[in-house]
Amino acid sequence: MERTLIILKPDAVQRGLMGRILSRFEDKGLVLVAARFRKLDESLLAQHYKDHEGKPFYAGLVRFMGESPVLVMVLEGVEAITVCRKMMGKTFGRDAEGGTIRGDFGVSRSYNLIHGSDSPEAAQREIALFFDADEVIEWQPAGHKWVYDAEDLG
Ligand code: UDP
Ligand code: MG
Repeated sequence: MERTLIILKPDAVQRGLMGRILSRFEDKGLVLVAARFRKLDESLLAQHYKDHEGKPFYAGLVRFMGESPVLVMVLEGVEAITVCRKMMGKTFGRDAEGGTIRGDFGVSRSYNLIHGSDSPEAAQREIALFFDADEVIEWQPAGHKWVYDAEDLG
């Protein structure tokens, strides 16, 4: 099992898309193990986006992400990081394939609805940035044994 940090960005919240996006992950079989609805301040955003500091879009990105509340979540599943990135689609809505979250819901470059960790190292760092260890809940949905077979679980 792997965990990934997902943020439904201010545009997803303001456009009333939170439920529809979360439904896609639930439908896929990913399990919500932590969630918090909050506004992100500049220092937290600077830590979260530290790898992008100095890039031309950085200032605009931090301004956008702090403008309005976001839904921060941890999702769990086998290969959750890759599965979620595939479901999100390419970074810019205009490039993202239909059937992906960004492809179906957006046309913008920066207003692209969702963040998802891009590696196990990033996931570990990002989850620790937004949640204390005891805020990530170990649980399994009732139907879980019909989502993965023994081979999937290695
Ligand atoms: N972004 C932007 N302009 C760019 C590249 C990125 O506004 O030219 C924003 C966009 O919101 C993106 C975020 O910065 O989601 C982080 O960029 P990254 O390359 O990590 O894309 P992601 O991993 O989110 O697909
Ligand atoms: Mg990224």
